[in-house]
Order: sequence, then C-alpha cells, then structure tokens
Amino acid sequence: MRNSQFKILTNDTEENLATLHRPAKRVKNPHATDIVFLMQAMKEICESPNVAGIAATQLGKPVRIFALHLDKSKPCKFYINPKIVASSEETFEEPEGCLSVPGQSGYVERAKVVALKFEDRNGNQKFEVFNDPTGFSAKAVQHEMDHLDGVLYIDRSDRVFSEEEMEKAFYEAKAKEEKAAQDQAITDEILED
Ligand SMILES: [Zn+2]
Repeated sequence: MRNSQFKILTNDTEENLATLHRPAKRVKNPHATDIVFLMQAMKEICESPNVAGIAATQLGKPVRIFALHLDKSKPCKFYINPKIVASSEETFEEPEGCLSVPGQSGYVERAKVVALKFEDRNGNQKFEVFNDPTGFSAKAVQHEMDHLDGVLYIDRSDRVFSEEEMEKAFYEAKAKEEKAAQDQAITDEILED
C-alpha cells in the first residue's frame, strides 16, 4: 500500500503548479527520518509498472533527490544532491511523459549523453555516465534534474500532445508507411510485366 502521507502532485491546480515550479534545496542529512520516509515513498512509486523515475519535488518535498528505475531487474536507484557535470553536444528529441502531467506527452531536446555527480544514500560521493544507444537514460536524468530546478517538460516543449493525439499520429504514420510499401509493390509488379 502506498504511504498516504505522500501524493504525486499533478499540474491541474495553481497550487500544485506553484509547488512543482519551486526549486529544491540540498539534502543535508540523508539519514534524517523525514528523508528516509520520503525515499521509501519514492521507491514504491518508482518501482511501479511504467515508471522510469520520480523527483522529490513531485511529492511536494523541495529537496534535491530523484530516483530512477531503468533496469527493471534491480531495485530503483537514488541520486542525492545530483549535478550534471558534462553533457554531449549531440542532442535528440523524443516524446516524454511525466507523472505530474497526466495524459500528455511532448517533445523536448535533450543531450544524448550526460555525466552526473551525486551522493548515494550513505552520503558517499558518486559519479555515473548515462550513455545508451537510445539516449533514454540521459533523457531521464535531464527530466528529473529539471524537476529539482522547478522545471516541467511542458515548460520546455513547444509540441505537447494529448495521449489520443500521439496515438493518432502514430497510426497515421504507420498507415502512410504501409500505403507507400503497397504503392512500391504495385510499381514493382508493373515493371516486372
Ligand atoms: Zn516528470
């Protein structure tokens, strides 16, 4: 059961939006009781199906912590007081979604690779490079870092769509591809004759 003390803030009220737009402060003691409880709630959310990451600000707690669950065979991982220390010049744009912006998806330009300095749950300094062929992990880090700075992806995107629009665009593109393949097959047949 999800800890009822914590609720995911969504962008449908002015009050929630104001909280989501507030930059978070550094964590002084990762062992403090309120921080430990917070991370427990974040872990539950982050390890639910179809969730890649969550930032503390999404639960209304303005502290610099996010969690990622990219490798589903392992527990989610915490990043405390994270800082992006390097980003690739190569960028890409792919739709992203957010638990705080339900039912929508939008394109944001992100660096393909990022390097992150952070502290683990025991306060040890760590370093990790997010570099995978799709750029998904680097995208997730930049999305969560934005949350800690009070930025939502819809603040950065000039192309935000509803889930229905995204689905429609996907099927239209697929139908167009199929039509082109059919036309090509007909042309090939005529040429063969
Ligand atoms: Zn988000």
